[in-house]
Order: sequence, then structure tokens, then C-alpha cells
Amino acid sequence: MNKVLLLFSGGQDSTTVLGWCLKKFDEVHLIIFDYGQKHLVEVTAAKQIIQELNYNFEDWKGKIKSDYLYKINNINNFNKNSLTSNIAFKKKKGLPNTFVPGRNILFYTLSAAYAYDKKIENIASGVCQTDYSGYPDCRNKTIKSLEKSINLGMEKNYKFQTPLMWKDKSEIWKMAKNIGGEKYLNFIIKNTHTCYKGDRINFHEWGYGCGKCPACILRAKGWKKFKRDNE
Ligand code: ZN
Repeated sequence: MNKVLLLFSGGQDSTTVLGWCLKKFDEVHLIIFDYGQKHLVEVTAAKQIIQELNYNFEDWKGKIKSDYLYKINNINNFNKNSLTSNIAFKKKKGLPNTFVPGRNILFYTLSAAYAYDKKIENIASGVCQTDYSGYPDCRNKTIKSLEKSINLGMEKNYKFQTPLMWKDKSEIWKMAKNIGGEKYLNFIIKNTHTCYKGDRINFHEWGYGCGKCPACILRAKGWKKFKRDNE
């Protein structure tokens, strides 16, 4: 049995990877982290995506075997960042203040511990180093090194799957279309959440969002390029 655990957030990237996992693996397990994001819309979107996929995508029905919500209560107490505190987005020493130090390292470690007894050999995520704001924990180097450390520390042979690592946002839109056609593309537009401000009211051709925060700008820019290159 070919099993994967996906670090799932309900965003465009991890939902694209979810489609990739559903095509590639027999069993898909999801782990969702609630680390005190200012806007729980992300977690709500994640739950809704799982339900809708089960109803509306015949080929994938029943393939999502479990979803686990992991609550982390005190990561906000260490540092102030604009994802978990009420402060504006800005750049500080080259890194934007949406960076949560240690977040991905912690998520990967907890995911590997969660997978430990379940005969899951693959751990997937939507990390990507191409388009991002230079988050050091999204780099290929970091993920490869984590894979090595975690496998050593747990005496395992996990394979960390990062299918988006070298793609930009327009290529991620294209990948969604290749995975499940217009239907999956539209599903991602309507159901995934990216906006840092938690805006689920304003709808654009690329989905919901304020249209102004760095996450919305990146998503919209990728969408425009995707449309330009594919029409
Ligand atoms: Zn936004």
C-alpha cells in the first residue's frame, strides 16, 4: 500500500499537492496545524475542501483516509509576526514579518511523529522556494537536511515529497489544471484560502481575498501569467 501524509493548510499550494497525492498514492492522510493564525478561515477552508473533494470528485472518493487537526498553542508567544499577531506586514532584515521562526521545522517533526506507527512512508507538503519571500524553512536545502535528521532521529526512511519546490505560482495553477482539468482548477479558485487578511468576501477571477496583501498579490500575479501563457 502506497501511503502519504500531507501537511495540509487549505491554501492553493497544499490543495494542488493534495490533488497530486490523490493521483499518485493509494491512501492519503492529512495533518492540519492550527498554530493560532489570526484568521481561522484557513482551517475552515481546509475542512471544507476535504468534504467537497469526497462528494464531487468521483475518482478520488474515499482516498482521503484521515485528517488530523493538531493544535499548537504557544508558538505566538516567542516572536511577533503578522500571521499570528495583530501587526502590519513589513520586511525586516530581508525577511518579511509573516515568517514564523521554526514553523516548518516543527510541522515536519510533528508530522513524522504522527506518521511513525501508521506505515506511512511519504510526507508531502506544498513548500516552494521559487516565488516566495525567501523563507529559509521553505528552501530545498532545509527540507533535504530535515529529511536526513528526522530519518536519523526516528530510524525511518521517510521520503519528503515537495512537488512544488521549483515551480512559480503560474506553474502551480497549470499543475492544478493538469491534475484535474478545469473542474479542479475552479475548485481551487473557489475553495482555497491564501489571503493574509482572511478576506472571504471579495471574489476575483483567482479566488477570494483582499487583493492587496503580499499573498493575494502573489496569487493574482501567478494567475495572470498562467492565463497569458495558456490562452
Ligand atoms: Zn489578501
